[in-house]
Amino acid sequence: MALTNRKDTRAVRVGDIVIGGRNKVILQSMCTTKTQDVAATVAQINALEAAGCQLIRVAVPDMTAALALADIKAQINIPLVADIHFDYRLALQAIESGVDKIRINPGNIGRKDRVEKVVEACKAKNIPIRIGINAGSLEKQFLKKYGYPTAQGMLESAKEHVRILEELDFYDIIISMKASNVGMALEAYTLAAEEFDYPLHLGITESGPLFSGSVKSAAGMGAILSLGIGDTMRISLSADPVEEIKVGREILKSFGLIDNAATLISCPTCGRIEIDLIPVAEELEAYISEIKAPITVAIMGCGVNGPGEARGADIGLAGGAGKAMLFKKGKIVKTVDEAVMLAEFKAEIDAMYRLFKET
Ligand code: SF4
Repeated sequence: MALTNRKDTRAVRVGDIVIGGRNKVILQSMCTTKTQDVAATVAQINALEAAGCQLIRVAVPDMTAALALADIKAQINIPLVADIHFDYRLALQAIESGVDKIRINPGNIGRKDRVEKVVEACKAKNIPIRIGINAGSLEKQFLKKYGYPTAQGMLESAKEHVRILEELDFYDIIISMKASNVGMALEAYTLAAEEFDYPLHLGITESGPLFSGSVKSAAGMGAILSLGIGDTMRISLSADPVEEIKVGREILKSFGLIDNAATLISCPTCGRIEIDLIPVAEELEAYISEIKAPITVAIMGCGVNGPGEARGADIGLAGGAGKAMLFKKGKIVKTVDEAVMLAEFKAEIDAMYRLFKET
């Protein structure tokens, strides 16, 4: 069941997608390639798109990278975000290169005329700005006030950056309140959701390598999403960014906040197991990751608890002694030998996916 308590936020257009306004949570990632290496960056973006990434951010540390954005933009299908720190000239060049959004904190740009130039360029091209608050790089005045990074300090920092943009009559704003500490991120996002109606970009930053980072991200994002907060999300892992998308899709599936992903239900196995289920479940998990449709499949290990779950899924398989019952939309359609059950199961999944794409 999907969450029904989602906070209503302002809808902000980024290229051909809309973030906020109760749209589905947009899943994004960030390239790990050097931005000036256009071929490698485009290849990574295309791999991410195939995995389900809907928005991609690249680092823009210098003018070479800012100029390369035009070439990258010409070769990809999903909206492109330029990540810029401090230098307004890089922001202007990124906008000129055709990016769909920039991430820059206006309070860090410096002189007012420079901020105005960036804002005017964004207005001219209908490009939103993400204000990225990060507990690890909170401005000195807030660290001094509280002694160390706090959610309240993060909120005050966000308010200051928002004020600068609003004074220039600019409202195409997205805000992130990232922290690597789950409790602090939860508090910061809760405060931001109370304060602003701008869409929120969720992140538990620097969450760690694939395994521990995925668990931490799921705990943090799950807590925040369960409050109805969050319009776009990036999982931050010390891993291939494709893994970030896989993890993000699983988290969104858990909350019914994604409609272009298949879900696998599989039993944990126990002493009643009658088929070799674990390798089959692993193979199916990889197989359905390619499916961009809300199909639920279940694989269960025995005839005791298996049929119940298998019946509840769109397509289900419940093991028996050397055999398995195949269910479709709650009805048994056939009994197959264990040796061919996976092939039969995949064929049913393919058929349902074809049907989904045709209708
Ligand atoms: Fe055990 Fe059967 Fe339940 Fe799997 S479905 S955990 S084998 S009782």
